[in-house]
Amino acid sequence: MSQVMKWVEITIRTTEEAADAISEMLAQIGADGIAATDPYEFRNTIENDPLSYCDDGTIESYGEDVVIKAYFAELDGGYFRMGPKSEEFVDPNGVGMIYGNITNKTMAVSDAIEYIKTRLSEIGEFLDIGKGFEGYSYVKDEDWANNWKKYYHAFKISDRVAICPSWIDPETIEAENKIILDPGSAFGTGSHETTAMCAKILDKYMEQGVSLLDLGTGSGILAIIAKVLGAGDVEAVDIDSLAVKVAEDNCRINGCGDIDCYTGELKSVKRSDYDVIVANIIADIIAEIAPDVPGRLKSGGLFICSGIVNTKAPRVEKALEDSGLIKIAAEEDNDWRAYVYRKP
Ligand code: SAH
Repeated sequence: MSQVMKWVEITIRTTEEAADAISEMLAQIGADGIAATDPYEFRNTIENDPLSYCDDGTIESYGEDVVIKAYFAELDGGYFRMGPKSEEFVDPNGVGMIYGNITNKTMAVSDAIEYIKTRLSEIGEFLDIGKGFEGYSYVKDEDWANNWKKYYHAFKISDRVAICPSWIDPETIEAENKIILDPGSAFGTGSHETTAMCAKILDKYMEQGVSLLDLGTGSGILAIIAKVLGAGDVEAVDIDSLAVKVAEDNCRINGCGDIDCYTGELKSVKRSDYDVIVANIIADIIAEIAPDVPGRLKSGGLFICSGIVNTKAPRVEKALEDSGLIKIAAEEDNDWRAYVYRKP
């Protein structure tokens, strides 16, 4: 059994657009910890959110790039254990362009670095990754284990809901509903524009007692928001079984143990009469599933979707209109869109 010698900190300097895809990739290939600092999001939060504060000079020190730091444990002899930390994460048919192939083996540190560079250039084929790989260095265990926490803070994701990391006392946060959510191995801390737009739409459009499907639930965040805002039967579904495990835990922690979490995709969901389906995935997948959406909704039901980068919006709108849905609202935040469609 190898034993952990040191922690290696890999730094990637990128754009807001590519930050999430890169973080997901790093989690997939086996990073033990990931911390991203997004100067835009950070400034926005500090300037507009009365719940947050920071020391003088912190904002300026962030510059313009999103800086991602990934931490890998270096084993005896200079190796990383690559690949997902759980067997169940192995799904070569996962979210294609984000996940790609998964290596489940040890790799010399220098090979691992090359591998990460290759994966970055693959992501660079569909997103602007900016400066990309910057370098790596060794850090002391104690440093990384706690440092990333300071970048996460409580924030209001919609009028009636705040997201709070577990290490912040919820009593100090003022909000009608508080959801405890820590950054972890599944996507969905609420800090992404697309998640926030879906949350705001749920807060505004969702009626009490509705049946709701959260497709591509990730951390479970949107399912939990829907539940605390008064949805009735809620299902949280993801093609990634690890995400489903994370979602189950998050539901339980938030007193939403009755949310039905399971592995699947739209074709395999349990009902064909949801009042609301929310899907924050990516444009290509939304366009691909569009023809099957009306068959899963009650008449009058809502399809809320996001994850749609501006440039792909026309294709998604066309696919949804071709399926017979009617657009009732569109939201935009930075490069991202979210929509509300209704089944006639
Ligand atoms: N709902 C969360 C997470 C969004 S990330 C939020 O809004 O923050 C998108 C999630 O969709 C990922 O967890 C991914 O595994 C899942 N996913 C990707 N393709 C899918 C598909 N075809 N069907 C269901 N889930 C899918």
